[in-house]
Amino acid sequence: MRVAFLGPPGAGKGTQARELAREWGVPHLATGDMLREAVTAMTPLGLAAKVYMDQGALVPDDVIVGLMRERLDALDASKGFIVDGFPRTIAQAEALGRVLADSGRALDAVIFFDVSEAELLRRLTGRRVCRQCQATYHVSSAPPAKTDVCDRCGGALYQRDDDSEATVRKRLEVYARQTAPLLDYYRGQRLLVSVRGEGPIDGIREAVREAARGAW
Ligand code: AMP
Repeated sequence: MRVAFLGPPGAGKGTQARELAREWGVPHLATGDMLREAVTAMTPLGLAAKVYMDQGALVPDDVIVGLMRERLDALDASKGFIVDGFPRTIAQAEALGRVLADSGRALDAVIFFDVSEAELLRRLTGRRVCRQCQATYHVSSAPPAKTDVCDRCGGALYQRDDDSEATVRKRLEVYARQTAPLLDYYRGQRLLVSVRGEGPIDGIREAVREAARGAW
C-alpha cells in the first residue's frame, strides 16, 4: 500500500498514520515529524526550517522534496509506505510522482481527512504531544491519565510552538491556499478517497482501512 494522507492541520492524519503504519507494516513518513526532529537536533536543515514553521508558513518545496526523495529512495521499492503531511503543494505532488516513477512506483490512493474549521481550531489549540513517542492528546477531549505525562511511554507532553491560536489560523489559511488545490489534482488522477475525519478515532480508522482496501 502506497498511500498519502491529505488534509488540513489537525485533521488527525498523524494519529491514524502512526497506528495504521504499524498495522500494515509500512514506514510512516511524516515531513512535519522529520522537520521537528531536525529542529531539535539543530541541524542546518532544522535551523532553516524553523523560521517558516514558527510562522505557520510552508518550508520551501526544494527542501522538502530533497528530504523526501532521500527517504523514498532508501525504501525497498517493493514495499509500501504512508506519506503524511506531504505533498502539500502541486509542485510537491508533481515531484513525488516523478520520484516514484523513477523507481517504477506510483501512489495507490490519496486519503483526504475531511474536518470542519471549527473542529480543527479546537483540536489544534488544545493539542499536546509527547516529546518521546509523538503520541498526541487533547487537554479536554483526550487528556492523559497524569497531566503532561504520556500514557504510553511516560515521556513529557508539550504544546507545539505552532499550535498557538494565531499560528493555527495562519496554517489553516496556508492550507486553503496552497494545499487544498491538491484535492482536484488527485481527483483528476482518480486517486482521491474522502474520509470524514470527525467522530470516534476507531470509527475514522475503520473508514481509512476501508478506503485503503478499495484502492488495493
Ligand atoms: P505538520 O506537523 O505536518 O503540521 O507540519 C508542521 C510544519 O512543518 C508546517 O506548518 C510547515 O511549516 C512544515 N511542513 C511540514 N510538511 C511540509 C511540507 N510537505 N511542505 C512544506 N512545509 C511542511
